[in-house]
Amino acid sequence: MVQRIVVVGAGIAGMQTALALRERGYDGGLTLLGAEPHPPYDRPPLSKDVLLGKAEHSRFEVDYPGLGVELLLGRRALAPDTARRTLRTEAAAGGGDAEELPYDRLVLATGARPVALPGLPGSAHLLRTHDDAVALKAALRPGARVVVVGAGWIGAEAATVARQLGCAVTVVEAAGTPLAGALPAEVGERMRGWYAQAGAELRTGAAVSGFSEGSVRLASGEVLPADVVVVGIGARPDTGWLQGSGIALDAGGAVAADDRLRASAEGVFAVGDCASFPSARYGARLSVHHWDNALQSPRTAAANALGADEVYDPVPYFWSEQFGRMVQYAGQHGPGDQPLWRGAAGDAAWSVLWLRGDVPVALLAVDRPRDVAQGRRLIERRTPVDRARAADPSVPLKEAVGG
Ligand code: FAD
Repeated sequence: MVQRIVVVGAGIAGMQTALALRERGYDGGLTLLGAEPHPPYDRPPLSKDVLLGKAEHSRFEVDYPGLGVELLLGRRALAPDTARRTLRTEAAAGGGDAEELPYDRLVLATGARPVALPGLPGSAHLLRTHDDAVALKAALRPGARVVVVGAGWIGAEAATVARQLGCAVTVVEAAGTPLAGALPAEVGERMRGWYAQAGAELRTGAAVSGFSEGSVRLASGEVLPADVVVVGIGARPDTGWLQGSGIALDAGGAVAADDRLRASAEGVFAVGDCASFPSARYGARLSVHHWDNALQSPRTAAANALGADEVYDPVPYFWSEQFGRMVQYAGQHGPGDQPLWRGAAGDAAWSVLWLRGDVPVALLAVDRPRDVAQGRRLIERRTPVDRARAADPSVPLKEAVGG
């Protein structure tokens, strides 16, 4: 019988796990443990409204005591003893006594950590936590020279806000195009102009070779003066604390869960950014570092922790708000999938659909939310499209169904 569930990581995935367990009628002991001092909050607003100063925080309004959830904040979990089913915890700030928590089910929801660069000065900014956002906001004064390292999702959003706050912004990117880690060059190329239109300078093919106080050095030898340095070059699953537990990780360091989100140890589950799972839909193991996955995966893990047998195989989805545009992506494309454009390069709004044969497997849309809603359904149902109609942006995608 399940009497005691411990959820490690008080981000959105951990909080949603606790809520889903209660929604499914679980009324036993439930502990939500978080290393940060703050109650669970939402991360997407950190690089948008919180950074801009439109919102002071992005905390979730949840009545934890009312739900019977014991919220232990500022405490870090150490590697669990999966044979004895116990978890040791210690104060995240150091000091104090270690405590041991017994569990019947353990849910790992420790998210991801941003990647830093060697030699990064202490004054440089990463953007993952509420405290990171508050510190960066204070530094983004009008006229400040800001160098953003990385033209990925976080870099683009940080550059957007820095420009809105009146900073002089240079974005340096080692790859040849923005978002090179996620999108083919021909798609990223269409986004290049957004930087200049917003008054930011984008330098691609520009690798950083070092930092000094007040400047960033490029591999070319050029030195860029910088009052503020922001690094947004990706994140890695925060799973180092599991070392020695015997819980299997994949090559990228994520907890290697199965298609029911079970980790390799009995009674242990993994959700959100820290987990990967095999997708039958895409024929690959997916590690998804996006909000929707952190929202959805807890429902499956909570159900299975309570004895259900549900498979998790979603069509991944995410969005990004950059340079006044809404960018949305659904699905998962691979190198063999064929892009089909809806809208020309100069259009304000466009999308690209990736086809495997005639079946859409992924879609990226810029200011075309209807394409996302309709395309997502086609992807979910594996509905073939008529290529000529799907390539015509005036034809709604739901009316581009083939044969
Ligand atoms: P996290 O939110 O990382 O939470 C994990 C928590 O676990 C952390 O609080 C951490 O301190 C804690 N923890 C770690 N180790 C331990 C331990 N040993 N013991 C106790 N606690 C521990 N996605 C989108 O789709 N669209 C967006 O626009 C978007 N914008 C984003 C903007 C920013 C600035 C960031 C950082 C992310 C953004 N994302 C976005 C991604 C999305 O926010 C993440 O996918 C999501 O937060 C992952 O949730 P999580 O609960 O799995 O992990």
